[in-house]
Amino acid sequence: MPQRTEVIIDLAALKHNVSMARKAAPYSKLMAVIKANAYGHGMLDIAKALSDVEGFAVARIDEAIKLREAGVTQTIMVFTGFLSADEVRQFSHYDLDAVIHSEYQLELLNASAAVKPLSVWLKINTGMNRLGVDSSAVTRLNDGLQLSGKVRLPIKLMTHLACADDMSRPTTTQQIELFDACTSGLAGEQSIANSAGLLGWQQARRHWVRPGIMLYGGSPFCNAAASDDGLLPVMTLKSSVLSLQTVKKGECVGYGGVWQAKKTSLIATVGIGYGDGYPRHAEIGTFVLLGRQQAPLVGRVSMDSINIDVSQCESVQVGDEVVLWGEGLPIEELAEKSGTISYELMCGVTERVLRVIKGAEDGG
Ligand SMILES: *Cc1c(COP(=O)(O)O)cnc(C)c1O
Repeated sequence: MPQRTEVIIDLAALKHNVSMARKAAPYSKLMAVIKANAYGHGMLDIAKALSDVEGFAVARIDEAIKLREAGVTQTIMVFTGFLSADEVRQFSHYDLDAVIHSEYQLELLNASAAVKPLSVWLKINTGMNRLGVDSSAVTRLNDGLQLSGKVRLPIKLMTHLACADDMSRPTTTQQIELFDACTSGLAGEQSIANSAGLLGWQQARRHWVRPGIMLYGGSPFCNAAASDDGLLPVMTLKSSVLSLQTVKKGECVGYGGVWQAKKTSLIATVGIGYGDGYPRHAEIGTFVLLGRQQAPLVGRVSMDSINIDVSQCESVQVGDEVVLWGEGLPIEELAEKSGTISYELMCGVTERVLRVIKGAEDGG
């Protein structure tokens, strides 16, 4: 009988990937990036499994508070920092590390009632042009933060790399040089590297590294598979064959009838669709895995199901397990076939998909 649609989270693979990060940056403290529900893997489960990292990073304050309330004691960096006077108070109360990316945050700090001094990271825009203060404003803002009397000294320093996934571009070196130029003489700890920076750019490995995607077994590099870096997939998305039917030459499959059988074909309907996070834009011909056999997608992806052509497969039966990505089928392949990146696919697995945690230690 058909199995449930599940996403398996393999904590042993997660720990393996952490050890790869440690090996590549042995002198850096590791801040595991677990924003967006740990890229869809389940933030609290991942944080609990990573009890030996020095810190965590999230995008929003509510993610950080959830971690503290669950008993996380390590450093927690919040990429957006505080966005109101009330949040300044919460950063202090929960002992969260605030990223200072805009001048208005200094005003918020100065306007807030006296609080226990905050741990802050001054984020410098070195070319990403997303969040970060201009290099010319670093000294002024650094002085302003010191004078506020509300931050712990020395102020920590960070930037974010825009093109570290592409080893052939000069941008990363330029960003690092600019960072070094405008932080020279400042004493605080530094952080530059995301996963691609950590694995690919030695100069980016500072006091702290901030890997995300590599911990989950996704390749941070363009045109690469994660296995190239010795990473293992943490997430495997699975479903099973709900029904089998033979379609005759000339008959169509699925909405809009966009796929037409060129010969008599055996079509399997699999219980997963875009309502679960399988991308609707996956191309016809994208492979799924049936045991060790590959079978191509045919027709449009529906909300609850997809159809695959199993004419070339041996002995397919209702109930057979189908892997959409993960173990045996690199997520990068599907991402490429659906015009996206592994990050978006991981984040997009929906609530209704049952999460199964594998590889947790006894009693842990
Ligand atoms: C998301 C993010 C990271 C992690 O990036 P990966 O490519 O997943 O390693 C690091 N730093 C910042 C500021 C981020 O937004």
